[in-house]
Amino acid sequence: MPRIIDDGTELFEVGDEVVGDFRCSECDLLVTSPEEADGILVLPACPLCKSPEWRRAG
Ligand SMILES: [Zn+2]
Repeated sequence: MPRIIDDGTELFEVGDEVVGDFRCSECDLLVTSPEEADGILVLPACPLCKSPEWRRAG
């Protein structure tokens, strides 16, 4: 489940099942859920900076 931080942004974290585009909360890396597997992406730790937190892009 995402949690809401002070400015209203939803923060998602490692293991959350998401659909759509997400950016790393630390380095802004973009990840997109796949077309297969019903479009569900299980969020990983960021491959660049290892941050566990993501926010929805766009
Ligand atoms: Zn990152």
